[in-house]
Amino acid sequence: MILIVDDTPENLISLKKVLERHNFEVDTASSGEEALKKVLKNEYVLIILDVQMPGMDGFEVAEAISGYSKAKETAIIFLSAANTELKFITKGYSSGGLDYITKPVDMGVLLLKVKTFYRIYEQSRKLIEIQKALLDEIEFRKMAERKKDEFISIASHELKTPLTSVKGYVQLLGRSVDKGDIPTVKKHLAKAQVQLEKLNELIADLLDISKIESGKLKFNKKYFVLDALLDGVLEVIHQANPTFNIIRKGNAPQEIYADEMRIEQVIVNFLTNAIKYSPGTNEIEVNVKVGEGQLYLGVRDFGIGIAPELQKNVFEKFYRVEETAIHFQGLGIGLYISAEIINRHGGEVGVKSKPGEGSEFYFTLPLNAVPEAD
Ligand code: ADP
Repeated sequence: MILIVDDTPENLISLKKVLERHNFEVDTASSGEEALKKVLKNEYVLIILDVQMPGMDGFEVAEAISGYSKAKETAIIFLSAANTELKFITKGYSSGGLDYITKPVDMGVLLLKVKTFYRIYEQSRKLIEIQKALLDEIEFRKMAERKKDEFISIASHELKTPLTSVKGYVQLLGRSVDKGDIPTVKKHLAKAQVQLEKLNELIADLLDISKIESGKLKFNKKYFVLDALLDGVLEVIHQANPTFNIIRKGNAPQEIYADEMRIEQVIVNFLTNAIKYSPGTNEIEVNVKVGEGQLYLGVRDFGIGIAPELQKNVFEKFYRVEETAIHFQGLGIGLYISAEIINRHGGEVGVKSKPGEGSEFYFTLPLNAVPEAD
């Protein structure tokens, strides 16, 4: 927008008309004081400023404006009786740009100058935008780098923990073998196996992440019945966590077309999280519903829950709820992988949760999925 400042109403009106005819947005002020008030409130690309005005003259207005941060990019064209007056500006007006036009105003020259200032303004605005985008980009890199470093350190720690346990059990095994103490040998073997399984899962997750990143996560889809898959999964989970009572509600007896192992991986992830993030509880519900062309499977726990504002983040890569992360081991990638698997099957993942009351992590899958024609 352009601000015209002139104490002569005819000048204001005629200048405004010409500029508006050339599609410029125009505001007016009939004194220096009024101009200053308007500059504080609005943003102007250009101010056309009469030099000789009663009260504050044009130069004083320009000096005052040069101190406003709001008017940093604003250019000024003085309308002066003689061009020599310009040298009286003592404080340099260092910002947007300065020019002058002698009276009587030649409209053609004024329009040319206005257009030039507008072009310069647009160019500098674009440059500022580019600079900001570049700075944001650099910051975002930096951030990704930091997250990666953090992830490597957590991942190494997570891998080291079961590895150290395995080493310990193997040493103990050696001693029990020497003693010929078979029951203890069996006990240590079983414990080493549990830790090896943990290692295996961690490495499988890490491999999945790199497959997702490189677009190489492939699916082996076929028809299977979710109910049958669920029977097996719940049995295994119950065996590993005998204190937990897993209550199953609802059925999905029809065949669906999906990658059975990958869907199992998602269910196992939801269940192990439900157990991990629910210390002091012993019940979990698995809700299965079929309807409206889709299947719903939700794993409900009665554990720590997640604050509403953080719920949208939990499916992001490497995300862990900060306040609770130190109390529970994890890499923050299981839900990201689960979301990728479900989305690639045309379904959705989500969570309903209340802090202190528990969470229900769920996924939906379309029932009408069929093999794609080659
Ligand atoms: P991990 O459990 O290894 O940290 P996930 O990707 O499985 O990684 O989960 C991401 C984060 O979501 C967890 O760190 C935890 O903060 C939160 N979360 C996941 N499941 C639950 C749950 N059932 N209850 C509460 N918080 C959960």
